[in-house]
Amino acid sequence: MERGIDLVTTASVVLPGSTVGILGGGQLGRMLALAGRHMGYRFVVLDPTPDAPAAQVADRQIVAPFADREAARTLAAQADVITYEFEHLDANVVAELEARACVPQGSRLLRITQNRLMEKRALEASGIPVAPFREVASRADLERALDELGFPAVLKTATGGYDGKGQRVIRAREEAEPAYADLAGRGPLVLEAWVPFVKELSVVVARRPDGAMRPFPVAENVHASGILRTTIVPARVDEATARRATELACTAAERLNAVGLLAVEMFLTADGTLRVNELAPRPHNSGHFTMDACVTSQFEQHLRAICNLPLGDARLLTPVVMVNVLGAHLPRLLQRLPHLDGRVKVHLYGKAEARPMRKMGHVNIVADSVAEALAMARALDVWDVVDAGDVKPVSDA
Ligand code: AMP
Repeated sequence: MERGIDLVTTASVVLPGSTVGILGGGQLGRMLALAGRHMGYRFVVLDPTPDAPAAQVADRQIVAPFADREAARTLAAQADVITYEFEHLDANVVAELEARACVPQGSRLLRITQNRLMEKRALEASGIPVAPFREVASRADLERALDELGFPAVLKTATGGYDGKGQRVIRAREEAEPAYADLAGRGPLVLEAWVPFVKELSVVVARRPDGAMRPFPVAENVHASGILRTTIVPARVDEATARRATELACTAAERLNAVGLLAVEMFLTADGTLRVNELAPRPHNSGHFTMDACVTSQFEQHLRAICNLPLGDARLLTPVVMVNVLGAHLPRLLQRLPHLDGRVKVHLYGKAEARPMRKMGHVNIVADSVAEALAMARALDVWDVVDAGDVKPVSDA
């Protein structure tokens, strides 16, 4: 779907040979830099950890905390265009950079997606359905919100949460107090009604400064303990659902004026309703399948969008299943490595410490069908969770 290409171009092209500055040195920055190197760009990374995954493949790293304004200014002086690879940045620093450097994504959408309450309000204002939610600032608010939304419900911190951190499922009245005690003191909270989803879907869409957009194929995602485990593409949904999911993502990108990538995660319920759960204005874990299965990877596409180049073809070339490699899975995967089928493409992030639930890499398994790719993933016997049936339902979690 190509929209808005006739709008006037307002930004100039950032040509290969230029330097891209990345705020954040994690795996997303690493894969962005690897894709950009193929295209001829240079990279400078700002991250507090020396030898961060992205820094290993960049030209230079500025080792400093993200809130260090002086370091941010150094980044601005060294980069022709600046992007970020994770959201937990000080949006004021990004706003300051925006004033003195080329930051095509801007700080506005970053600010919105950093806060679940702001994000949900912005989505609602854009006519995009979300799970019913209430702001919770006190115990009394929580009691009232539970009366209104019912059980189960999920209490989440409005800021700072990721990969299931800062979330408590409340299944019954007596679980409210411990959940509140756990999360209170971590800033504003939001209570969300539990969405009895049959599938979780996501769409990563790229949008250029002139408004031209190109979505990647709809992905079907399997989460366990709040962490993405598997992405299945094509998603096992009917065409009308896939079309609606794509339209929702494009509408979100357009209404929120995204530039670069926007990942839109959503819940599909049995009656066919889609509700958006979360946005990420950056490359996304559920878009890693594009690296081996699409004409253009999400990382190349992000660079094309922020550098104001034409967007690449986002077509899917083969069915694919992406499975995350967490620290707990790494030793077994490494054991299997010498015997792996050539259709199992391994990506590792160069992280020094393999904590059990830390994302250390992912594999993309390409096959003639997603069923075959899933069977190949199971046969490797590396993962506890491959498909949704392996996840414990929330009622007995
Ligand atoms: P989040 O951090 O909001 O993306 O949540 C992580 C995962 O927890 C989601 O991908 C879902 O699997 C689950 N989850 C979060 N919120 C809800 C909800 N309101 N209803 C059902 N599942 C949820």
